[in-house]
Amino acid sequence: GYHRVLEENRKLYNQVQDLKGNIRVYCRVRPSLGGRSDFKSVVDSIEEGTITINTPAKYGKGSRSFNFNKVFGPSSTQAEVFADTRPLIRSVLDGYNVCIFAYGQTGSGKTHTMTGPKDLTETSQGVNYRALSDLFFIAEQRKDTLQYDVSVQMIEIYNEQNGFNVPDASLVHVASMYDVIDLMKLGHKNRVVGATALNDRSSRSHSCLTVHVQGRDLTSGAVLRGCMHLVDLAGSERVDKSEVAGDRLKEAQHINKSLSALGDVISSLAQKNAHVPYRNSKLTQLLQDSLGGQAKTLMFVHISPELNAVGETLSTLKFAERVATVELGAAQVHKDTTSDVKDLKEQIANLKAALAKK
Ligand code: ADP
Ligand code: MG
Repeated sequence: GYHRVLEENRKLYNQVQDLKGNIRVYCRVRPSLGGRSDFKSVVDSIEEGTITINTPAKYGKGSRSFNFNKVFGPSSTQAEVFADTRPLIRSVLDGYNVCIFAYGQTGSGKTHTMTGPKDLTETSQGVNYRALSDLFFIAEQRKDTLQYDVSVQMIEIYNEQNGFNVPDASLVHVASMYDVIDLMKLGHKNRVVGATALNDRSSRSHSCLTVHVQGRDLTSGAVLRGCMHLVDLAGSERVDKSEVAGDRLKEAQHINKSLSALGDVISSLAQKNAHVPYRNSKLTQLLQDSLGGQAKTLMFVHISPELNAVGETLSTLKFAERVATVELGAAQVHKDTTSDVKDLKEQIANLKAALAKK
């Protein structure tokens, strides 16, 4: 009856609000890896968007809560995590630019979220695989009206230098999920070689999978372009400068530089500054087109449940909380009408019709 209409109206309102705020922060807590039944997590409670951490004496004994758009607990599955990312994938095909980051200290689960575990199965596939699989699925659904062209690029940024995980193939056209899987395997293999040679370099480099989408309207010939960056960031842990030297110190300085440049860009966007300092790091340069007033951004913030990581956990959550309070304004599509707007218009019409019947 009438209440249902009101309820739907509220939902619609929330959706419109959702479209306006184009930066989202989701927190994910990884499970304890030891498998001990008496394991005591630093996480006190999780309620929708709020996570509460028990802080030990060293950090002011008590508890501290943080608010995000969503919090995924240790038993959340890859499918559940992706379900809330899905609307962004549709956006890319509608002509938006999208940026999805994984942030957190080394070992907190960034690669698990973005790629999946080493012994990858279909159910354990991470966001990267699911995003591309969705992309192809939606493109197929739209094939009578739009012709899509998808290409991907795998880039690793290490010490402020770009490297390509896939040799002599910077931008590769992909026609199906099989192409993507082959490419990711190749990229992964090259990264593993790097890892043994350079002492787990993967935790000290940013790894970025970029997807370019072009859609041609079969009737009008109009072309829309969307782009998506899927970024597994370097570990965010602070490195004690007194304990490291040489290469390790250089790496730490580069990581600090790029992660703080990322924070600076986001806060500068939030303050609507005329000048946004994209050029301060390779990472922000690479993401420039997908990180700004016209793009949609999602940050997955990862934390470990162990007590010995609680210092990093608290600083990670504080950083993420700052990002979560940023309001970037409405994202923009590179085309006249988007399916988002169309969907909402349709819903408004339906609700009006339902109200008129009362
Ligand atoms: P990071 O990339 O942040 O360094 P990883 O993704 O490599 O961390 O995760 C560290 C370890 O924890 C890996 O063995 C990984 O498989 C495991 N792990 C991380 N997140 C989860 C999760 N949500 N469920 C199960 N295992 C996880
Ligand atoms: Mg990793």
